[in-house]
Amino acid sequence: MGTVYVGAYAEQIGTDHEGYAAGRLPDGSLTGTRTADTADFTGYVAACGCGWHGNVDHPPTDAGEIAAAGAWHHTHLQELIAKAGAGWPSWAERVAVRARVVAGHVASGRPDIAAEVAARLEGEVAIWRRTAEELVPESARDLARGGV
Ligand SMILES: [Zn+2]
Repeated sequence: MGTVYVGAYAEQIGTDHEGYAAGRLPDGSLTGTRTADTADFTGYVAACGCGWHGNVDHPPTDAGEIAAAGAWHHTHLQELIAKAGAGWPSWAERVAVRARVVAGHVASGRPDIAAEVAARLEGEVAIWRRTAEELVPESARDLARGGV
């Protein structure tokens, strides 16, 4: 029903953010369902599966529904992407700390623990590697693959 973002930083943003156009009911509440009980809604409002919702009511028309869905994308989703994009420095610090922990476990004769920590570190690095790859423009990705 809603929109789930799959672009760069989607892994950092997580799966709780499914955007949709909620219906504003006459009592002021919002609903994501369309039933006979919600048929007399007064407008569409941008909403997200995480509980966030916009503060602008759009007309109860197809164009209003599209505008509300667009508002989710242009406000809430863009804020989430910007916040995730600002996470590179803290990610780098976490990676450095974990790498030192791995080295410390090896130095103290616990390669078994070092391997466990390194495996978690590897997973974290892989997420951000995929993000960096997604940030490369599609045309540049084609060149990197040897395409035209
Ligand atoms: Zn959300």
